[in-house]
Amino acid sequence: MQKILDCSEYLRKNGIKPSFQRIKIFDYLVNNPVHPTVDTIYRSLVNEIPTLSKTTVYNTMSLFIEQGIVQLITIEDNEVRYDADTSVHGHFKCTACQKVLDFHVDAGDISYKGIENFDIIEQHIYLKGVCGTCKSANLQ
Ligand SMILES: [Zn+2]
Ligand SMILES: [Zn+2]
Repeated sequence: MQKILDCSEYLRKNGIKPSFQRIKIFDYLVNNPVHPTVDTIYRSLVNEIPTLSKTTVYNTMSLFIEQGIVQLITIEDNEVRYDADTSVHGHFKCTACQKVLDFHVDAGDISYKGIENFDIIEQHIYLKGVCGTCKSANLQ
């Protein structure tokens, strides 16, 4: 993902009025690529923005998704996470530390046998398992 230096300009370019809260929320997403939930985003920003509410975070995320600058990650049914990196990449969730990590996916490596002539609108690649850090911690 290319580094976004000016969040305000980036939002404007994508048809979003860059309000103070929107800039702060987007800036947080870009600088914390940990696929946060609404809850995490809210808790991380509420000290800095006391007027922030979870509803605002939620509505802002919906707007960002609508404008195509954020993608939704639903690796778990009961947990919605957000990603400011909208390029095609896979997500790995560690069942031990609960972290969601990115991995590179080469579009050329994916086989679409059986659905060759279908139109694909969304592409999600989700894996679950135990990450390297948790694996080595378990071995000690
Ligand atoms: Zn882990
Ligand atoms: Zn990601």
